[in-house]
Amino acid sequence: MTANPIKPARLFIPGPVDVPEDAQMAQLTPMIGHRSQDMDDLFASVQGKIRDVFCTRDRVYLLASSGTGLHEACIRNGVRSPATGARVLFLICGAFGQRWHDVGVGCGKTAIKVEKPWFQAFRPEEVRQAVAEANQDGNLDAVCMVHNETSTGVLQPVGELADAIRRAAPQTLIFVDAVSSLAGAEVRMDDWDLDVCLTSSQKALATPPGLALAAVSDRTLERAAQVEGRGWYFDFLNLESYLLRGTTPATPAVSTVQALDVQLDRILAEGLANRWARHITLRDYTRDVACTLGFAPCVPMACASPTVTTLRNARQVDVGKLNAHLARDDMELANGYGQEKGKSMRIGHMGEMGIQDLERLFGAIRVFLA
Ligand code: PLP
Repeated sequence: MTANPIKPARLFIPGPVDVPEDAQMAQLTPMIGHRSQDMDDLFASVQGKIRDVFCTRDRVYLLASSGTGLHEACIRNGVRSPATGARVLFLICGAFGQRWHDVGVGCGKTAIKVEKPWFQAFRPEEVRQAVAEANQDGNLDAVCMVHNETSTGVLQPVGELADAIRRAAPQTLIFVDAVSSLAGAEVRMDDWDLDVCLTSSQKALATPPGLALAAVSDRTLERAAQVEGRGWYFDFLNLESYLLRGTTPATPAVSTVQALDVQLDRILAEGLANRWARHITLRDYTRDVACTLGFAPCVPMACASPTVTTLRNARQVDVGKLNAHLARDDMELANGYGQEKGKSMRIGHMGEMGIQDLERLFGAIRVFLA
């Protein structure tokens, strides 16, 4: 453990984010066998803590994959084949919702979608209607949605949306991508009655990339038992049988799990409520200062993400040149995503960041604009 493992932030992109030095160093611990007692102990340590971060009593699977792997896992385990008449509905309000839909199509399922314009969140009533329509014959197996759309900086009211889905289709599973929200914004797997809540290690958990984590409900496992062609690597029933013995079917990303263990101690020591509040403070500061510089936020405050802020590039700044300027101080922010490139830019403020980091970033942006 170093005296001060948190150095000034460098990465103001919406992930991967800076990893504290002690978590980084944990990866240099001499390698352990994945069937050893040391690994079982590490796994048990992580399992206890990660459930608290998801606010769940359900199991959490850890996989050597990025988050997208779990998009695929949800589809393969939770949606029956088209031959049964089953379908899956995607609520899309940005690029990652669209990617999840593409995964559904790629897995050969009957995928339907409802879209919202970029920079907006779904409202419970429109979700209730869409779900009721898609479930007229009772064959809507699942609804997939992204909690925090990193491409736009929109945070969706997942608790309310999940409630609307349950009212319209009680048997339909609810799968939520919390890739850029877990450990940065309020996520409550059990209170919101979700079926899968998935994330990646490299966002607000501030751990190196390479781990995908999913909290999974009993209902999802019951469904999986009725689904053919679940594959093997992401088969929840296979993962469950190994988890019950405190281990994983395939070799886990041991070093990344060691880093995660350190980060989970840090996150729980800060306290989830404090951590969520700190991210909201970072968001509010970013929006306020950006406005004074002539960059209005793209997203209304009511659905503004606590972990990433998208700014309208009203001053037509060359984002590449701005980043070249920031690079002199070893900092970087993100361009607008996809179709928004050049028209907006994104500031990631997640993980272990503090206001002093944003002050340093905006100080450098001011010099660039001058
Ligand atoms: N979902 C969201 C909301 C994301 O922001 C990302 C990546 O940025 C992904 C999914 C894909 O995650 P990964 O790159 O870990 O596969």
